[in-house]
Amino acid sequence: MGAAIAGWVQGMATAGVGAVVGFLAAGRVGAAVGGALSGVVAIPFGRAVARGQPYQGPGGLRRCIVDATWSALNTWAGALFYGILRLRGNPLDVDRTRGRGSIWLVHGVVPRYATTIGMVKAGSNERIDRHEEVHVLQARLLGPLYLPLVAINYVIATLVPYWLLFSDRASYSVDSVAAYFERGVYPHVWHELWAYRVSRRHSS
Ligand SMILES: [Zn+2]
Repeated sequence: MGAAIAGWVQGMATAGVGAVVGFLAAGRVGAAVGGALSGVVAIPFGRAVARGQPYQGPGGLRRCIVDATWSALNTWAGALFYGILRLRGNPLDVDRTRGRGSIWLVHGVVPRYATTIGMVKAGSNERIDRHEEVHVLQARLLGPLYLPLVAINYVIATLVPYWLLFSDRASYSVDSVAAYFERGVYPHVWHELWAYRVSRRHSS
């Protein structure tokens, strides 16, 4: 589909979600503020979609429609993520973005890990991309439910370490606060269990 149109559609979706989120938080004034602030990140994000052409090729139109409608909350979160990382000098990987259904930023946020929000991936590479692609798919499948379900699970896994009962418990030690999150909480939230299961199956 037309790259410029796709960029315009995703930019409009981003500004529109910002207005809705603002309205829910603070009525009409919130809608104006949320729409305007989201409009600021919608412009570079829309340009990234137009330049990178993630929706090129088979299935692209369908993904573009899903990202602007059912998954628009994830697109909005991804656009905010994209804007912040671009301001910090993280470049768009145009070659990897084209036709992949997601937007690639060259550098990661956390050392040794890639981070994916909505359809925006920071620091992915061909070795770990199957894992990150699961998160892109999860967002499209669950739409507006995805981020709340992820957030709820992080809170529960932090407060109630149910993961101590998992069968992989013997393979790692929790000897620091960092280990509590990196080995305990993080790999045992539902969307990471799913993504690691898929990536392990394909790597072994
Ligand atoms: Zn993950």
